[in-house]
Amino acid sequence: MKTTLQIEISKTTQSKLAATDFDNLVFGKSISDHMFIADYKNGEWSDLRIEPYQPLMLDPGNATLHYGQSIFEGMKAYKNEAGEILLFRADANQKRLNESAVRMCIPELPEEIFMEGLMTLLDLDRDWIPNKPGYSLYIRPFIFAMDNYLGVRPSETYRFMIFTCPVGHYYAKPVSVKVEQKYTRAAEGGTGFAKAAGNYAGSLYPALLAQKNGYDQLLWTDAKTHENIEESGTMNVMFMINDTLITAPTHTGTILKGITRDSVLHLAKEMGYVVEERFLKVAELEAALKNGSLQEAFGTGTAATIAHISKINVNGTDFELPEKPDYAFSHQVLKKLDDIKYGRTEDKRGWIM
Ligand code: PMP
Repeated sequence: MKTTLQIEISKTTQSKLAATDFDNLVFGKSISDHMFIADYKNGEWSDLRIEPYQPLMLDPGNATLHYGQSIFEGMKAYKNEAGEILLFRADANQKRLNESAVRMCIPELPEEIFMEGLMTLLDLDRDWIPNKPGYSLYIRPFIFAMDNYLGVRPSETYRFMIFTCPVGHYYAKPVSVKVEQKYTRAAEGGTGFAKAAGNYAGSLYPALLAQKNGYDQLLWTDAKTHENIEESGTMNVMFMINDTLITAPTHTGTILKGITRDSVLHLAKEMGYVVEERFLKVAELEAALKNGSLQEAFGTGTAATIAHISKINVNGTDFELPEKPDYAFSHQVLKKLDDIKYGRTEDKRGWIM
């Protein structure tokens, strides 16, 4: 991609690349050498630059630290066999960042700043993108308030940043989940559809309680009735009941519109499956677990792509899900998505940049 924006680049003199153990990557621990920055002040985004990755200097009165006006995205870059850098549906992340921005009173970021900032950063740190199967470069774009002011009001200044980290598989093994019917992640009219920092902060305590009882993640239910299954910690969730793929709809504004979710639904339809975007009731899930009609349950998200669910706790009872054979939908769709992301198959849907 040809860039048209003025981006000031200052390169690191102390690359961490040689000291990074690419065979033992822990998610989010090894950070690439550079970061992209843009600042919002006087009503516009400007001062585009790339700097060596380094700590920020923040005023203790920084509004983000107090009122959490902060949003982020999560996406990945892959390398194909020819060593070219491939981005999967980056335009969808860019759009979702701005949907989150509107809800959190953050000024929208022009598409070209997002895209050109990202391309320039990836080009500079291209050696950080692993070229092993299953490995990729995780990309974290985010925006946060920069006013140093303790009054509660939308900040007048913001910072947009992108940094990246090489990653391996997020969940190496299938996950166990517990249906949560006491605590709530998001309510109608709230911020559930936004990728806002506070949504994650509020979910930590209930998730920790579940982890203490041996579960990896929660299956959140709706705030009003706690009868409808919504999504999981950092994943949307899907259930194959008989031959129908069921996942929660997004019109209530309580669910993050996952890009993996959308991609899996698209592929499932192409593969001839019946797809239902509707709420699965907890009681329905329990019945399907008991009568054996639940064929598969899995999470979808950028980090893991597909995370198989091996155990579900409903109303205090654990149900084990047997490992699925290779021909199962979740394995098939994971393979299809990986083939697209790593450029091993033709990009018929315009998902690769
Ligand atoms: N739900 C939540 C709450 C998430 O944080 C994520 C991860 N972004 C997802 C779902 C999955 O979204 P995506 O497929 O776009 O990564």
